[in-house]
Amino acid sequence: NVRVRFAPSPTGPLHIGGVRTALYNYLFAKKNNGTFILRIEDTDQNRYVEGAEDYIIQALEWAGLTPDEGPVQGGDYGPYRQSERKDLYKKYADQLVNDGKAYYAFDTPEDLEEMRARLREAKVANQQYNALTRTKMSNSFTLSPEEVQNRIENGDPYVVRLNVPAKEEIRFKDLIRGYVKVHGGTLEDKILLKSDGMPTYHLANIVDDHLMKITHVIRGEEWLPSTPIHVLLYRYLGWEDSMPEFAHLPLLLKPSGNGKLSKRDADKQGFPIFPLNWTDPEKKEISYGYKESGYLPDSFINFLSLLGWNPGNDEDIFSKERLIELFDINRIQKAGAKFDIEKAKWFNQQYLKERSDAEIGKELKIYLESHNIDCEEEKCAKIASFMKERVTFIAEMYTESKYLFEKPTEYDEKLVRKKWNNEAAEIIMDFAEKIKEENTEDPAKLKHTLMTIVDERNIGLGKVMPCIRLALTGQGGGPDLMDIIAFLGIKESTDRMITAVE
Ligand code: GLU
Repeated sequence: NVRVRFAPSPTGPLHIGGVRTALYNYLFAKKNNGTFILRIEDTDQNRYVEGAEDYIIQALEWAGLTPDEGPVQGGDYGPYRQSERKDLYKKYADQLVNDGKAYYAFDTPEDLEEMRARLREAKVANQQYNALTRTKMSNSFTLSPEEVQNRIENGDPYVVRLNVPAKEEIRFKDLIRGYVKVHGGTLEDKILLKSDGMPTYHLANIVDDHLMKITHVIRGEEWLPSTPIHVLLYRYLGWEDSMPEFAHLPLLLKPSGNGKLSKRDADKQGFPIFPLNWTDPEKKEISYGYKESGYLPDSFINFLSLLGWNPGNDEDIFSKERLIELFDINRIQKAGAKFDIEKAKWFNQQYLKERSDAEIGKELKIYLESHNIDCEEEKCAKIASFMKERVTFIAEMYTESKYLFEKPTEYDEKLVRKKWNNEAAEIIMDFAEKIKEENTEDPAKLKHTLMTIVDERNIGLGKVMPCIRLALTGQGGGPDLMDIIAFLGIKESTDRMITAVE
């Protein structure tokens, strides 16, 4: 029975890389009729940010990645917040110490700084606490058992560190990267329990994955270096037989492909890399999200699924159901995936034009209301019918075509100079008169009327159309002219035509 988890730390908004991790976990779970779990890793009180957990939950909800078990849903393996499990971890640290697989270390911050300084001076590249350096430090390797006991009873602060074997190769298999081996001598004796009694990420993560019966750990590449430590922990705790399989996901790269995608890229280039807008509790940091930028959740998920994976055929637009069907963990790539916002836009366009006019109309109405424009739902749906193929976002149905809601206040000067001509002006007057008489808003009939006039006068349509458009909208380009007239109505349209000619 497949059980996977998304285990973010509530230190701020979710980055798009985090959402992709959640998505791949979700897809893998659904594909295998498994369980998708949300676990909040909040043992590090220093990095805890107010509101971040809610943000994570809402972001997953928006993207349609609702967990089967988690702080909101509950489940048989809860609680799903590590801060509510904190009493659980110490006994495993004790067990490791008793078995000689971990040890007490009493080093003060000054001791540690001295050690690093010594190593720096000796030009040792990696100034870490490990099998070589620990023999010179103040810990159970150098102190007698009585001394250790005394210091603990005395209330001296201590941490518990993992006893990493110096001369052993640690191997594990990664589903994406194949076999990985690391020499114990290159690893740090990681802290498992901090001096305040709280577990570190490494201990809490392994204990919880075990207790929650996680079968596959799917996470970002940045955790690959920690995996040997985790493998040792499984072994030392006697859980090797039920150790989960690992899959480390490729990095997300800048649009240029040069280096990791960062929040700063987003700020500079103005594209969203968060699912939702975020303002930190001190109101210092504001980040802009997909949701508020007008991306549709389905299109966002489609776009995201292809950042590091592909279905191996030429399909690129798929519903979530189809995605689950197609998803194959073996097709996740090793190489970093370039993040290209233009693709996200393209997907949004594809999804938008497939939606019904009524559906879009409803959302457009809400959007317009937020801009103090009152427009009936039916009219909004009408706008959707002739605009949805022309825009990327619903908002553009307003921002790109404000003339649908108000008279043009000015006419594009360049176009006026280039296109406006007396013949066209005469035709516009004829046309206005005629459609007033006929009083029909049927686009086909309107078009017919215009054609008849143009034919009679023997003038090219290309000389007339841009002028009518200018008269109605003040600008060049946009949806079909007859659709615009039909939408504005005969009175408003002819008023605008007459105003423009005069
Ligand atoms: N809490 C870690 C994070 O913030 C979890 C890493 C993991 O999945 O093991 O990403």
